[in-house]
Amino acid sequence: MLADYRDTIYHCLKCGACRHAYEVYEPICPSGMKYGFDSHYAIGRISLARAVLNQEVPIDAELMRRIYTCTSCGACDEQCHEAVGVDPLQVIEELKWEAVESGMIPPEVRDYLKHMNVHGNPYLLPQEERGAWASVAGVPQFDGQEYLFYVGDVGSYDERGQKIAAAVAAKLMGCGLELGVLGAREMSDGNEVNRVGERGLFEYLAKANIEQFDELGVTKIITLSPHAYHAFRNDYPQWGGRYEVMHYTQALAQALEQGKLTAGEARDQRVAFHDPCFLGRHNAEYDAPRLVLEAVEGLELVEMERNRNNALCCGGGGGNFFTDLLGAGPLSPSRVRVREAVEAGAQVIATACPKCFNMLDEAIKAENLEDSLTVRDIAQIA
Ligand code: SF4
Ligand code: SF4
Repeated sequence: MLADYRDTIYHCLKCGACRHAYEVYEPICPSGMKYGFDSHYAIGRISLARAVLNQEVPIDAELMRRIYTCTSCGACDEQCHEAVGVDPLQVIEELKWEAVESGMIPPEVRDYLKHMNVHGNPYLLPQEERGAWASVAGVPQFDGQEYLFYVGDVGSYDERGQKIAAAVAAKLMGCGLELGVLGAREMSDGNEVNRVGERGLFEYLAKANIEQFDELGVTKIITLSPHAYHAFRNDYPQWGGRYEVMHYTQALAQALEQGKLTAGEARDQRVAFHDPCFLGRHNAEYDAPRLVLEAVEGLELVEMERNRNNALCCGGGGGNFFTDLLGAGPLSPSRVRVREAVEAGAQVIATACPKCFNMLDEAIKAENLEDSLTVRDIAQIA
């Protein structure tokens, strides 16, 4: 309940530190950067939460449109911790939960949740098609192998996501890892459902996944998506789901260390790595993807100005990849991000998340940068 966060809400100093990245002094909140109003930054959202708490403002779908442009990127927490020590994102996500509870959610969020309830995925596609890519790519079904390769909604159904899933699986198997996918048996990890505030459905999905993982004897999981990695690692243990969870870049970095990964060659490419929020800021993994990239011969790793814990979100988190509440335009975070990659001298943006890949790929087209910049997943480079 919002009332549980009264201390946090009242301790916001209105300092505005959540707007800019420390030491870099660049805008860091993707929704605030796009719209420019305080109500799209943590500072204003905390004020709105205070007004809701004090019953000065009712929760309604229009108010929530502003709140739902938050991508749960965690950058405000990062800045606020440094400056004041408050966790604004918890308050923002509590507001989303209250909105779901009272039915006051924007239609885009309502539709996303309806699709997840009815179809089990946001693409409205049949469950049987979930593992179709794996049969084509020759990735085995899970049958007691050491690792479950968990793919998730985007990797299972989105065309670009499927290519990334196939590249990651091939790379992992090439390192000698024994793995299998659940295919048609796989269910959504529920992280995005949780992020938009539908905690009941998230709990249902988490418990269903845990039951299936335990029935199948799953003990070790490698995820394609940082979002699933986050949910399995940090949320599932509260319902008894305790597994050894790795993001695939961590598995590749481990294989590299053990001499099992022979990274390929890049033809004198300058590559900038885009830190996914749910691998970086939310789980403090910044090194594994860079270690894998640095092992590629001929590859020069360059850094964008906003990197690691100060990385700028692509705009796809917090359900926005599916609801598109942040919208398009020159100030959309993904377009700002690809311009930043160009400024860093990059020819390639390397990603470690299928959502980031899609967001940045579209942004490159919108910026007419196809001739000078491409986006590739780490597994497609290494
Ligand atoms: S940095 Fe923290 S204390 Fe300062 S305005 Fe933002 S949320 Fe409030
Ligand atoms: S989590 Fe990200 S998008 Fe949401 S308010 Fe904080 S900085 Fe802005």
